[in-house]
Amino acid sequence: MDTQIADLSQLKQDALDKIIFHATPKAWLSKRGPWVLDRGEGALLYDADGREYLDALSGGVFAVLAGYGREEIARAMYEQAQRLPYTSPYGTTSAVTVELARKLAEVTPGDLEASFFCTSGSEAVEAAIKLARQYHEANGDGRRYKVISLRRAYHGSTVGALSATGWSPGFGVFRRSADPVVPAAGFANAMPPYCYHCELGLTYPGCDLACGTTIEQAILGCDPELVSCVILEPIMATAGCIVPPPGYLAKVREICDRYGVLLISDEVVCGFGRTGRWFGVDHFDVVPDIMVVAKGLTSGYAPMAAAIARRGIAEKLPVFFNVHTYGGHPVSAAAALANIGIIEREDLVENAASVGRYMIGLLLELRGHPIVGDVRGLGLFMAVELVRDAARRESFAPELGVDNQVAAVAREMGLFVRPFGGTVFLAPPLIFTKAQAERTVEVLDTALARVEAQASSTANLPTAAGAGR
Ligand code: PLP
Repeated sequence: MDTQIADLSQLKQDALDKIIFHATPKAWLSKRGPWVLDRGEGALLYDADGREYLDALSGGVFAVLAGYGREEIARAMYEQAQRLPYTSPYGTTSAVTVELARKLAEVTPGDLEASFFCTSGSEAVEAAIKLARQYHEANGDGRRYKVISLRRAYHGSTVGALSATGWSPGFGVFRRSADPVVPAAGFANAMPPYCYHCELGLTYPGCDLACGTTIEQAILGCDPELVSCVILEPIMATAGCIVPPPGYLAKVREICDRYGVLLISDEVVCGFGRTGRWFGVDHFDVVPDIMVVAKGLTSGYAPMAAAIARRGIAEKLPVFFNVHTYGGHPVSAAAALANIGIIEREDLVENAASVGRYMIGLLLELRGHPIVGDVRGLGLFMAVELVRDAARRESFAPELGVDNQVAAVAREMGLFVRPFGGTVFLAPPLIFTKAQAERTVEVLDTALARVEAQASSTANLPTAAGAGR
């Protein structure tokens, strides 16, 4: 490692030539160089150039809940790798993986009880969709195959998960026209519960949760007897940290029950305390039929994900077909168990709730900035939506990259936040302190002021999607 860092410019050149990055334009990378990270401690990151950053993004995509430098997780992985590094998915497992399945049954709500393990959120979404179909088939209802998801939802980059990712403005970064997706007939979209930009121009509570009603309309439009499941994120993540209005999720649950459709909650971002409760659905007292978890399951220390089914679904399936070589990987399971142990012992869910409450209070003050339209969030998951005209809730043209500019200035000041789709995301590790929350908002305040002041001279700042991450 030290040898690599000794020749940093060569390392950066090789990163440029020999690694294919997601959504980061080559022109931008050549100009700025790839960002080579070296180490982390708590909520702090250090890059190979020796600069320190406060990580308000949990590693960039909301994964590192327990923070960096957790020897306990590293040790658990080391010991498991030495004892038994691997088991195959064909009816074979290890004590540590069973222990993890027990723990997941304990921390998830209701009778969510049986886990199918894989390695990424996308795979777990695919597994959940297959679980739903194979359950219906086992129930003598094999015609059900259609999947309803929400516009603006993001469920992953593999073909099935990407097909459930409803195409939305700005989502070209995930779903390109050249991408293979399942034929449209298998997937239908409903309206997201995005009150700030309600597609129908309605206001809660007068709207009578019309967004929920569009799910019923989508089911009816597909032929209810052909619909297998509804998949949604309880708090929509990539769409901009969209917290649904009270009653929304209960309404969706009721609609699904009425038509015999399974409800899948994609908790890849919300899971394990991110929103100040163990899971996003816990805020709404709703138990889904299948829950998808990833990212925070291991705090990013090892790749692992799971689709967790209710007892009645698992019991009904005589067999489940969906093989992954690394499903239930013992080393990843050891990382997950140690990570969940830390979240429990250090009461990180409660810390996310209390520091999150404090931080959103500070963020609300940013509404004084002319380009800040909305500030929203739950626990330690927050978003600041930037707008061209706050009174009309009019977004900036995406090509201006105003969110990227704000994030780039913040990065120069030692703060790591994520721009996407006109919004600046904040999702720090659950160990975040009030002092770190104050520092984050202070830097963001300055970054917003600078971007407002330089609004017309953006030539030196990245404008393409992905740049500035
Ligand atoms: N579901 C949600 C809600 C996500 O935000 C993501 C990734 O960000 C995924 C699924 C896909 O997870 P992965 O990138 O691990 O495949």
